Amino acid sequence: MLLLDLDGVLVDTRPVMECAWLRVRETHGLDVPFEAYEHHLGRPFADIMERLGIGDAELIHRTYADASTAASHLTRQFEGVAEVLHAFAAAGWLLGIVTSKPLDRAAPLLARLGVPFATVRTPNGVGRGKPAPDPILLALIDLGADPADATYVGDMAVDQEAAHRAGVAFVHAGWGYGRPSAPTPEIAESPADLLRFLETAVHRAPFLEGSLL
Ligand SMILES: [Mg+2]
Repeated sequence: MLLLDLDGVLVDTRPVMECAWLRVRETHGLDVPFEAYEHHLGRPFADIMERLGIGDAELIHRTYADASTAASHLTRQFEGVAEVLHAFAAAGWLLGIVTSKPLDRAAPLLARLGVPFATVRTPNGVGRGKPAPDPILLALIDLGADPADATYVGDMAVDQEAAHRAGVAFVHAGWGYGRPSAPTPEIAESPADLLRFLETAVHRAPFLEGSLL
């Protein structure tokens, strides 16, 4: 199965985030440039605030969320994303989303893709956020799947860390916002480049549940 990050992988929301962060700076009188915020993308919002040394994260998140919703028309799908996801679905792959974007803002973006997702994991559920493995492990539980049968596609080093800690394969989305970290992972240059993984699913020998006991 293919698990995917949302921002910087399926949709380009950088203009939305930049707009929302500007509103936060204006509203709360913060002198923190967008580049500092962007550096921590992939983590839950409260985690980013803590790393930037900003208090009152809940109030700021409300400003940020409202401004994001107002600017959501600036969101663009990366070219070829919908076609690629449809190709995986048609080949029988289960698709899932693991994102740090709250569900109310992620859901409309996912609906626009018109692709059936078997699970969507956001910070609204239980567990720690990325780079902890929790949301990926919870997605695997949703799908009744082993880590060895899943690949996570993300664009930030925290995505890579979460995949590593969850024991799933990782593919770095080279068209996204971040750089991969060591050890150098598999890299896809474009959404269409993901198609080369379509036929490379590991066909392992049938494994009888409980046979290790
Ligand atoms: Mg991302």
